[in-house]
Amino acid sequence: MNMDSIVSLCKRRGFLFQSSEIYGGLQGFWDYGPLGVELKRNVKDAWWSDMVSGHDDMSTLPGAPTPYAMEGLDCTIIMHPQVWKCSGHYDLFHDYMIDCRETKKRYRHDQLNGRWVEAKEQRVFVTAPAGDDEQEHLTKQALKFFHLRNKHIDELKWDGEVTCLTEIESFEQVLGPDTNKLGTLTEPREFNLMFKTFVGALSGEEGTAFLRPETAQGIFVNFKNVLDSTRHRLPLGIAQIGKSFRNEITPRNFTFRSREFEQMEIEFFCHPDQSQEWYRYWRDRRLKWYHDMGISEKNLIMREHHKDELAHYSIGTADIEYAFPFMADGEYGELEGVAHRGDFDLRSHMEGKLDETSDSLGLQLDENGKPKWKGSGKDLSYRDDLTNEKYIPHVIEPSAGADRATLAFICEAFYEDEQPDENGKPQTRTVLRLHPRLAPIKAAIFPLVKKDGMPEVAKEVYLDLKKHFKVFYDEKGAVGRRYRRQDEAGTPYCITVDGQSLADQTVTIRDRDTLEQSRIRIDECEQVIRERMNR
Ligand code: ATP
Repeated sequence: MNMDSIVSLCKRRGFLFQSSEIYGGLQGFWDYGPLGVELKRNVKDAWWSDMVSGHDDMSTLPGAPTPYAMEGLDCTIIMHPQVWKCSGHYDLFHDYMIDCRETKKRYRHDQLNGRWVEAKEQRVFVTAPAGDDEQEHLTKQALKFFHLRNKHIDELKWDGEVTCLTEIESFEQVLGPDTNKLGTLTEPREFNLMFKTFVGALSGEEGTAFLRPETAQGIFVNFKNVLDSTRHRLPLGIAQIGKSFRNEITPRNFTFRSREFEQMEIEFFCHPDQSQEWYRYWRDRRLKWYHDMGISEKNLIMREHHKDELAHYSIGTADIEYAFPFMADGEYGELEGVAHRGDFDLRSHMEGKLDETSDSLGLQLDENGKPKWKGSGKDLSYRDDLTNEKYIPHVIEPSAGADRATLAFICEAFYEDEQPDENGKPQTRTVLRLHPRLAPIKAAIFPLVKKDGMPEVAKEVYLDLKKHFKVFYDEKGAVGRRYRRQDEAGTPYCITVDGQSLADQTVTIRDRDTLEQSRIRIDECEQVIRERMNR
C-alpha cells in the first residue's frame, strides 16, 4: 500500500486538507474536509459511546475485577500555569533540537541517524533523517560531499553501523542531512514543546499561560469535583476528548505527528491493590476496541515498555501500535498509550513533589531545599464511605489520539481492486472499507436514470433516511461511476431506485465490500441499514 495514494485520495475526496493551504500551508496543521469531519466525529462518537455513555456499569465486564462507573468532562485548553509545573510538563516536556546554520533547517536530535564513512583520506559522519530509506540518503550525501560519481561508489568505506546522532559527541566531522559543509549543525538545545501564550493584558511573565499538551491534567484537577458531584464510589473512569497542542520540532507523516491534534483520554481511578488488574484490563480492552472497529490483527501490536523505558513513576506502560504504511517494514507507530501512573498525578497536584527530598519533577529548590512551586495543597485523596478507608487512588491512563486513530482507519480501509467499467474494460476501483459505524456517509441514494419519475422517488427515500443517518443523493452520470465515487468515500450501502421501484415500491441495495445487490422494500430501508451497520 502506498501512502501517496492515500494522501491524494484524502485531498481529492475531501478528507484532509493542509491548513491555510492558499497561503502555502502551515507545517504540522491539518484541516478536515466534509468527509473527514464526519469520519473523525464518528471515531470520537464510537469511542465515547463504547467507553462512556454506553458503558455497562451494572455488570462485571470480561477481564475486569469489578463493575465500574464512567463519567465525562470537557475542560479548558488554557489552565492555571501551576498545573503544568506540577504535572512536570513545564520542566520536563521537551525535546532536544539541532539547527543547521547553513540551511536553517531544524531537526530533532534523536531523529537524525548517521554513519561514519571514509574516502579520499577523510573521515566524516554523514547524517540523514531516521526512516525508511536512510542508507540511500546517506550514500547520496557521501557521494556529493566527496565529489564522487555513482560509478565510484566503492570508494566509500563505511565504518560501523547506522547510529543515532545522540551517540556522537563532537559535531566537527558531522555532515548535516541537507548540506555539503562539515560542522554546520549546532549543539543540541532544549526546546519545550508547550505553546506559550499570554492571558489578559499582561505581556510579561505574570500573564504567561500554555496551551495544554494533553487533556489528562484537566481530569486530575477536577477529580474531586467529579467525585463530589456524582457521588460515585471508586473505581471510576473519567473521560475527555479535546484538542491538545505540542510544538513538535519535526511534524511529519501526514497527521501522525501534528502540532494541533485531538486526544481521547481516560483517567481510571482505582484502589492501589487492584491497580495491576485494572491495568491489564484496560490494555486488553483498548486493543480489542481497535480490532472491533476493523483494524486487522496483523497490523496492530501491543508493545509493553521495557523497565528502563518507563517514566520514573510508572509501574507499567503498553503502547498500542499500528503498521502505518509510512513506517519501515516491521515497524509500528503509536496509536495509544496505556499507562499505569500510580498515584503520581494526584499526589503531585496535592503536594507538588514526590517527597520532601525529591526534585524529580524538576522543581527548583529554594535555599532551604524546599520546592519553590508547591501543589494545590488540596486533599485529593479518597475516602471509601463503606469501608472508611482513605487513600490516594492509583490511576490507569488509556490515552489515544483521535487523529492518529482516524489515519489508521483510513490506511487500514484503503483497498484497490479491478472491476469492469460500463464497457466491460477492467478498471482500478479504489475502496475505503471503513467499518459502517465509522463511514462518513452511511448510504447513497440514486435514481437509476434522471427521468420517468425515478428522481422524485429517490429524493423521497433520501429525505426520509436523512432523518436517521448521514446520506447522500446523486443523480449525475452513469450509475457505475456513481457507485465508484461512493466506494472511494467509504459509503457501505448504495440504494438505487429503478423502473421496478415505481411499480412495487422496492429498491436495490448494493454492498460496498461484497458488491452483492438485493432488493428490499422502500419502507424497510432504514431498518435494513441499521441492522447491517450493527452486524
Ligand atoms: P509520540 O512518542 O509519538 O510523540 P507520545 O508518547 O508523546 O507520542 P502521548 O503523550 O502518550 O504520546 O499521547 C497520547 C496519544 O496522543 C498518542 O498515542 C497519540 O495518539 C496522540 N498524540 C501525541 N502526540 C501527537 C501528535 N504530535 N500528533 C498527533 N497525535 C499525537
